[in-house]
Amino acid sequence: MIRQFELVEAVKSYDRMVDEDALNRAYVFAMKAHGNQKRASGDPYFLHPLEVAGILTEYKLDTSSIITALLHDTIEDTDVTSAEVNEQFGEEVAQLVDGVTKLTQIELQSQQSDQAENFRKLLLAMSEDIRVLLVKLADRLHNMRTLGYIKSNDKRRRIASETMEIYAPLAERIGMQELKNELEDLSFAELNAEARGSIIQRLQFLRDQGRDNVEAIIAELTETMRAEKLRAAVNGREKLPYSIWRKTQRKKISFEQVADIMAFRVLVESAEDCYRALGIIHSAYSSVPGRFKDYISTPKSNGYQSLHTAVIGPAKQRIEIQIRTHDMHEVAELGVAAHWQYKHGLDRNHGHDYRWLRELLDILDHAASPDDFLEHTKLEMFADQVFCFTPAGEVIALPGGATPVDFAYAVHSEVGDTCVGAKINGRSTPLRTELENGDQVEIITSGAQTPSPMWENFVVTGKARARIRRFIRLRQKEEYMSLGRAILERAFAAEDYAFNEALLGDVPTVFALASADDLAAAVGAGEITGRQVLEAVYPGIKDARRGGKVIQLVKAMNPRRPKKADGKDGGIPIKGLIPGMALHFAACCNALPGDRIVGIITKGRGVTIHTIDCEILEEFSDMEERWIDVSWDADAIDEYHGARVELVVTNETGSLGELSTVIARGDGNISNLKITNRTAEFFDIMIDIQVRDVKHLTNIIAALRASPVINSVERARG
Ligand code: MN
Repeated sequence: MIRQFELVEAVKSYDRMVDEDALNRAYVFAMKAHGNQKRASGDPYFLHPLEVAGILTEYKLDTSSIITALLHDTIEDTDVTSAEVNEQFGEEVAQLVDGVTKLTQIELQSQQSDQAENFRKLLLAMSEDIRVLLVKLADRLHNMRTLGYIKSNDKRRRIASETMEIYAPLAERIGMQELKNELEDLSFAELNAEARGSIIQRLQFLRDQGRDNVEAIIAELTETMRAEKLRAAVNGREKLPYSIWRKTQRKKISFEQVADIMAFRVLVESAEDCYRALGIIHSAYSSVPGRFKDYISTPKSNGYQSLHTAVIGPAKQRIEIQIRTHDMHEVAELGVAAHWQYKHGLDRNHGHDYRWLRELLDILDHAASPDDFLEHTKLEMFADQVFCFTPAGEVIALPGGATPVDFAYAVHSEVGDTCVGAKINGRSTPLRTELENGDQVEIITSGAQTPSPMWENFVVTGKARARIRRFIRLRQKEEYMSLGRAILERAFAAEDYAFNEALLGDVPTVFALASADDLAAAVGAGEITGRQVLEAVYPGIKDARRGGKVIQLVKAMNPRRPKKADGKDGGIPIKGLIPGMALHFAACCNALPGDRIVGIITKGRGVTIHTIDCEILEEFSDMEERWIDVSWDADAIDEYHGARVELVVTNETGSLGELSTVIARGDGNISNLKITNRTAEFFDIMIDIQVRDVKHLTNIIAALRASPVINSVERARG
């Protein structure tokens, strides 16, 4: 346990301006507040905030952060109120403590609800002051270090996977490499103790074999530098089990094949020296091709700078070497915390708001390398999200696949309704362009613009879709109304009556409609025939000669397709077509019900249906007038559609039988099967399967993937 004076000494050692009195008061305040509360370990609860504060002194954080660490659980877990904290320690600390409390509350909710949504709240809560996150990460680190005391298996696992999925990536994102490594390894120990155990065993084996001689390699590298008269400090370490594990997973190699289990660092005085050191190393040892990276000239978005290389080093060992200056090293290890040390604490007005907001935007801005951010695939919830910026720097979070139109609607409905164009990162781009993380989007609007039905093909947000639909409905109603009036005029004229809206009186109510406009629209939409209205206005006419001409006209103009005898829509399962237009499915993408689709008007051939991601659509990107908004008509999908899949199947007895069994079990019907290639180990097979829709196909593909004899399955395109 850190004692009171030790904590104060620790802060004093790096911050001469420390407010000792406040620190001491915070220590006593928190100790009293937690009173007799106990941790799962049986220790006094107060030990926990104290350890958290201790962790933060390692990062040389300012007094306010240390005090916040001491107080961080008081509001959530004791009678202490935010007002009291404010009174005792001032507004700055009170706000920091509130921020941490908020994060804790989000964390508690997150067990149930939508993770991505919570994550967004989390980002918001910490965007007020990045120190909130620093305290939270230290809090999490201590909780992970003491995770073993928690009795419930489920709870331990939940905390560990949350740490792996959210906190470790966040720590990495703000550059706190060391903290991230420890969080990951502690989570790994909980989540996959067996894998970790076997890696540790293997490391021990390599050590026993003398193949892991960190000290000898450090000595030789140091000597190599000295011989060239370069002042350099070399250090090295074995990689942590989790980082080795991740490498085996990512590169799909067995642990046996992981050669570089040691990482070395060469620290020098200046950036020039970094390149010199690189030159020395590359001339002394042969470098491993493709492994050199220069993050000095192109820093990572979290500010990380370093040169990376891999060489066949001393003792013919393959080793990784990072070369950087001492300053770069500080940033690499401490990340954001390196900026928020006591020295900046004094200069509070400087970017207290702006600078940290920018840092935060940097966190979100993983445009430089999305892989880098998603490397772990831990932050999966981010995979289907993009974060873009307004020209003013405001962050707009959108689902993956979102377009400038979604962006415009997210900014404001008005902006969406009137958008005519977009500039992404300063370049004019079509409205259907998919946005990428970090894009800065400027929307160009025009008062003359109205939502285009075509937008519905590519927007992905509910808000955009709803606004566009609403607009289409309104406009459609107007069109139906004028069409309806024309139909009524003809229907009436066929019996030598003149149509006049005044004649309708309360006829609309006969059809359970509110107004003459609604009635006209219903006629226009083909829900009611002109003849029916005529008969309602002149009941005596019923027995007279039927206006065959009128009925025909209605049929021809009726935007709905005729119903089949069984009342089901037959034929084409596509909505949104101009009646009577020919339709066919493009062979290039072979759309299935459930795919997002678009129609392209083709001269003399009617409408061709493509999937929205079909590459051919590129060719039509400048011909907006040929795009037509279509969607599947769920009611009309009653037949099976042909879908093609390509498989690689193990060449062994019974594997083809297994294949057809899996498909049959999935209620798919094989209509064609072709073996396209055959080797001693594998068959390449192409199969046409009759399926109901995409979901059906996806289910079959998933079942196929689960089969041990099937190596890979892909839906074939083109
Ligand atoms: Mn805590």
